[in-house]
Amino acid sequence: MDDIKIDKIIRTRRRTFALEIKSDASLIVRAPEHASYETIQKIVYKKRFWISEKQKLAKEKYKKTDQKEFVNGEGFLYLGNIYKLFITDKTYPPIIFDNNSFILSSEYVENAREVFIGWYKKQAYSKISERVARYSSSSGIKYNKINITNAQKRWGSCSIKGNLNFSWRLIMAPLKVIDYVVVHELAHIEERNHSRKFWDKVKIMLPDYKKHKNWLKENEYLFFF
Ligand SMILES: [Zn+2]
Repeated sequence: MDDIKIDKIIRTRRRTFALEIKSDASLIVRAPEHASYETIQKIVYKKRFWISEKQKLAKEKYKKTDQKEFVNGEGFLYLGNIYKLFITDKTYPPIIFDNNSFILSSEYVENAREVFIGWYKKQAYSKISERVARYSSSSGIKYNKINITNAQKRWGSCSIKGNLNFSWRLIMAPLKVIDYVVVHELAHIEERNHSRKFWDKVKIMLPDYKKHKNWLKENEYLFFF
């Protein structure tokens, strides 16, 4: 019963509890000053269906409204962190990432979306290739080739020939979440289904995979671009 994430608890001098789902799908609980954490958890658990329904709606809405504008100060995800964009008239190449922020040349603002996608794809290919090679050598599972796709929600897939496909959008996720998708697809080379044997293979490669699998399910809406 502890699997509902409470993002914030606000305790005030009130008698009743109130739950709120913010536009980013986070859950805020307003509680009486001395309410125990257990009591709060119980209240949240009782309302779990209402919470998940509201969160689903919030995520759908987020996708529709979060159109990127490519303006100064706007945040962009990379490996699970949000970095601010700065537009300058100096840079060459079109986009630079300096581990603190993205710097986009003003000449390219009109094509910013394509520039960003190109950058993400390049990073996705190099990072994912590195992770696949790492888990392939530790597990002994051999693969054929890696492709980067434009898939909106299919984060990874695996062909009969042992080709592994990954969406470039995955590069927005934390590294461990990328690892989970990598390990999942590698395991499919040997087990083509989601059987017990399959999940055992995943677990050997990434013992805490469940955490990352859940993270992906809850946060994949952030990768809308
Ligand atoms: Zn699968």
